[in-house]
Amino acid sequence: MADAFDVIVIGSGPAGYVAAIRCAQLGLKTACVEKWINNKSNKPALGGTCLNVGCIPSKALLESSEKFDESRHHMAEHGISIDGQVNIDVPAMIARKDKIVGELTGGIAQLFKANGIEWLQGTGKIFPDKHVQVTSADGKTVNSYAGENIIIATGSVPFELPATPLHEDVVVDSAGALDWTDIPKRLCVIGAGVIGLELGSVWRRLGSEVVVLEAQDTFLPMADQRIAKDSLRQFTAQGLDIRLSARVVSSKIENNTVTIEYQDKDGDQTLEVDRMIVAVGRRAFTDDLCNDDVEMEFDERGLVHVNDYCETSIPGIYAVGDVVRGPMLAHKGSEEGVMVAERIAGQHSHLNYEAIPSVIYTLPEIAWVGKTEEQLKSDGIKYNAGSFPFAASGRAKAMAQTAGMVRVLADAETDRVLGVHICGPSASELIGQAVIVMEYEGTSEDIARTVFSHPTLSEAVHEAALGADNRAIHIANRKRN
Ligand code: FAD
Ligand code: AMP
Repeated sequence: MADAFDVIVIGSGPAGYVAAIRCAQLGLKTACVEKWINNKSNKPALGGTCLNVGCIPSKALLESSEKFDESRHHMAEHGISIDGQVNIDVPAMIARKDKIVGELTGGIAQLFKANGIEWLQGTGKIFPDKHVQVTSADGKTVNSYAGENIIIATGSVPFELPATPLHEDVVVDSAGALDWTDIPKRLCVIGAGVIGLELGSVWRRLGSEVVVLEAQDTFLPMADQRIAKDSLRQFTAQGLDIRLSARVVSSKIENNTVTIEYQDKDGDQTLEVDRMIVAVGRRAFTDDLCNDDVEMEFDERGLVHVNDYCETSIPGIYAVGDVVRGPMLAHKGSEEGVMVAERIAGQHSHLNYEAIPSVIYTLPEIAWVGKTEEQLKSDGIKYNAGSFPFAASGRAKAMAQTAGMVRVLADAETDRVLGVHICGPSASELIGQAVIVMEYEGTSEDIARTVFSHPTLSEAVHEAALGADNRAIHIANRKRN
């Protein structure tokens, strides 16, 4: 008889490993199947995209490149001069990133041990009656396991553009762009989404000339458009050449030069660069996940079909994270993992999909939760809006980071906070306050009546909430009728 578990999780990204840990905490006998092999050490690793080639390594490089850029360009206003040139040792920067990745992925292995979770190394495939077959990386060992429950957490992989095939370290996807050990002089990024902007920012700060080609005519269409327009101005000022309505149709490599053909409003265009990052989105990864006789339902975009509780079409099989509908974000997957683990254990957990924050870790950072002004308008919902610019914040001035603003959108009748949008310093941290308010179904008055420390960036959130009622203190309010 096959080894049996209460729960078999397939995939150990932030959705899968969190689900596995919560299952084990609840006393369920849990195994997690993971096939990831680290491309440098050639050793198996836990943590999925997020820890290995996503959230964490990208933030490590954003941090290093920001320090480099700051040392080169933003020290004089503090009265600090640096004798001689500021240099960057790119291999050392990449080694620091790799060290962080190693520590964190190793940390997940420790957590698995501490929680008694069995790591089944290899590729998992689902067979009828909730059996999972695990094939080792060399293909030599195949074992079968029985799961009372299965949680699919197989994540996502980058979309490939057939017109621009990847090539060694010249045309790369997001993972490849985290491993360059020299600085390309001319760089093209295809796609002005979250990943394209973050990686474009890293290499721009390190000195590359960066052109970002984006097929859509609106910049960050998913974000509040006042915030999007404000941030586009900042990025342009930083030297990111962002070209909208620019659809890439082909690329070829000759003599170490990538020639890109794209179409914009003026017709056919050509661009020559030294390297290119293809960052045109990600697709759910379900390749060879289910044997032919497993009747799993998929959505039209290849996502595993689930209901609000992440139950698939097959009883006892759940799916969480990037492989199902909703934003492809680590924290969304983790909370789905917790919900599913608790429901398997007989609890009645649910997830509030209305209050999932999104962040772009550029400078300034962009973060939001809830509805944008554009969505409220198209839904016909009447709202009050309050904004506060960081240029009026004492703390932001002291930090010399005055770009951006906070916007609070509240229901005109009930005053419930419907959306908060931030572009500016520490937006990724500030948005947490808004998430808590929305989770508690709070109002802009609740924020307005809350005492915030002075001087802090959080006061901008306070002032924006006051502004929704035309009573901001540190900025002139709109004239009342
Ligand atoms: P994944 O992390 O993709 O993990 C899936 C795992 O399943 C993988 O390890 C894979 O090897 C394994 N697997 C797949 N199939 C099988 C199988 N059959 N058998 C065994 N194992 C299998 N999100 C954020 O919230 N914040 C960020 O700052 C952020 N930055 C990002 C930056 C970059 C460059 C990228 C690429 C992504 C970023 N993301 C960010 C997105 C985030 O990484 C994903 O949303 C998150 O990793 C999804 O988690 P997951 O567990 O669903 O899947
Ligand atoms: P995201 O899905 O947020 O990672 O963003 C990916 C971006 O890539 C989207 O904004 C797409 O519009 C953009 N994109 C997709 N295909 C192309 C293409 N051929 N040329 C330029 N941009 C593209």
